[in-house]
Amino acid sequence: MRYSQMLIPTLKESPADAEVVSHKLMVRAGMIRQLASGIYSILPLGLRVLRKIERIIREELDAIGGQEVFLPSIQPSELWVESGRWSFYGKELLRIKDRHDREFCYGPTHEEVITDIVRREVKSYRNLPLTLYQIQTKFRDEVRPRFGLMRGREFMMKDAYSFHVDVDSARETYGQMAQAYANIFERCGLTFVKVQADSGTIGGSFSHEFAVLADSGEDRIGFCNQCGYASNLEMAAARPPEGENGQPGEELREVATPGKKSVEEVAWFLSQPAERIVKTLLFETDRGMVAGLVRGDRELNPIKLKNLIGCEWAHPASEVDIASIDGPPVGYVGPVGLGLKIYADREVTALGSFITGANKQDAHFTGVSAGRDFEVEKAGDLREVRAGDSCPHCPGLYQVRRGIEVGHIFILGNKYSRVMKANFLDPQGKETPMEMGCYGIGVGRTAAAAIEQNHDERGIVWPAPIAPFQVMVIPVNYSNESVREASDTLYRALWDAGVEALLDDRSDRLGVKLNDADLLGAPLQIILGPKNLENGQVEIKVRKTNVSELKPLSGAVSEVVSLLRAL
Ligand code: ATP
Ligand code: MG
Repeated sequence: MRYSQMLIPTLKESPADAEVVSHKLMVRAGMIRQLASGIYSILPLGLRVLRKIERIIREELDAIGGQEVFLPSIQPSELWVESGRWSFYGKELLRIKDRHDREFCYGPTHEEVITDIVRREVKSYRNLPLTLYQIQTKFRDEVRPRFGLMRGREFMMKDAYSFHVDVDSARETYGQMAQAYANIFERCGLTFVKVQADSGTIGGSFSHEFAVLADSGEDRIGFCNQCGYASNLEMAAARPPEGENGQPGEELREVATPGKKSVEEVAWFLSQPAERIVKTLLFETDRGMVAGLVRGDRELNPIKLKNLIGCEWAHPASEVDIASIDGPPVGYVGPVGLGLKIYADREVTALGSFITGANKQDAHFTGVSAGRDFEVEKAGDLREVRAGDSCPHCPGLYQVRRGIEVGHIFILGNKYSRVMKANFLDPQGKETPMEMGCYGIGVGRTAAAAIEQNHDERGIVWPAPIAPFQVMVIPVNYSNESVREASDTLYRALWDAGVEALLDDRSDRLGVKLNDADLLGAPLQIILGPKNLENGQVEIKVRKTNVSELKPLSGAVSEVVSLLRAL
């Protein structure tokens, strides 16, 4: 490829709305342009990167028996009504109507479509297991599209779905998929962790995310510094307290706490440590309003609450919600006589007695005891883990880091197959719903994550396997005949050797070309100047280390090949 003929509109300045480095650099390197919020055009250089990631994905999925399909992006509402997600999915689902007023959506994911195909076409246990995948555009009307390709509304996803006769078979494919994902991200040159995750809207019982570690990541990951246990912070298990049921020590007593609402204020006023004050937090859920209890020095994690209840969603109740049930005054809520189902963190039930709001203005109860003074619907792990907390699996301590979720694998069980009647006949001729798994990778997000991990102040430093070009051939002055000839010959020899080279044949100053080369981030640069060429030499620069060395022109191709192999 010749630079002068390619569309590579580089920019000196980053777009004003770009917050993260990958977004800035993708725009500045001329890889992408925004068409509307969260909707991007992918330009030639960007597409070269995405295609490379896709190729790696295809190779790894084909290797474990995945078969590629291509499903429609526009999906009829009937399938979503059948699965129950038409009403559940909410505003992220872009709903559209055709000329006959029939409702459709633009697919945010494809469980419904694939399950529909498989229930029609696969009837017997003999045809299972089956893994199908596609690489295709999705649309999700994200609340806050941002960070360029990292969180777009329209984005490219690899989604795979597997169908099985039983749970063991689903688990086997899940394990193979986890390994394929590890291979994919490894081959893309990324530093990542596999973390235990919540299965979100899709549901199911078994789920891991693959997260690229980067400070700009939106997800927080809890790691053990000793045993390597890693979990999304929303799921990270807290070490249970020693002895889970404390004996009531004191009598229940109401005390006046005028104007004292926060844990800190009450703790100070009553001269008690924050861990003896219990916070009562109200949540709206699909099963009505509930209360969650955690110690005053802890935070309650709504995802853990949702999982403890076993419901679909749980959001902190607003003042309006609380007023609508004639609830207690803010700051004085407590479990005694509350009239809602109460879910308690195990650390709370482990306390013998504690302090809570008294459900009336300016008053708290002391000596409150779970079980005696109020009924606990269920006790479990509700608190959010923090850096320095004990690991539940070993004597180690939690560390917390940020990560970018690039892939997500789930075992779905028969959630979709049951409601959509995707059944197979077992050897005895009995109809049984299939077990399913689903597996996603964000292609654009993977490219963005690679930049988050591989850049410097001058631009992108691509990992070789996903670089748009492996080498930039940079003539100092392309109008000089001997330089031009040497550059053209080298450029062709590189392609003949299977090395993707970009020849910067522009008439710009050398400084401009070198800046652009650093910005675009090919792993190697070869600079050809008239003086060095007189001595039969060229300069080969490794982008990552910024180190350049003079090498004989005659051996440049093999030098490049071996450098790339080592990168
Ligand atoms: P997130 O929590 O980041 O919204 P998700 O859990 O909704 O992600 P999945 O439904 O598991 O994501 O989708 C599979 C993969 O698709 C994700 O791991 C991610 O790489 C990618 N992805 C999801 N949403 C987006 C988006 N808005 N923009 C780009 N990639 C996305
Ligand atoms: Mg999402």
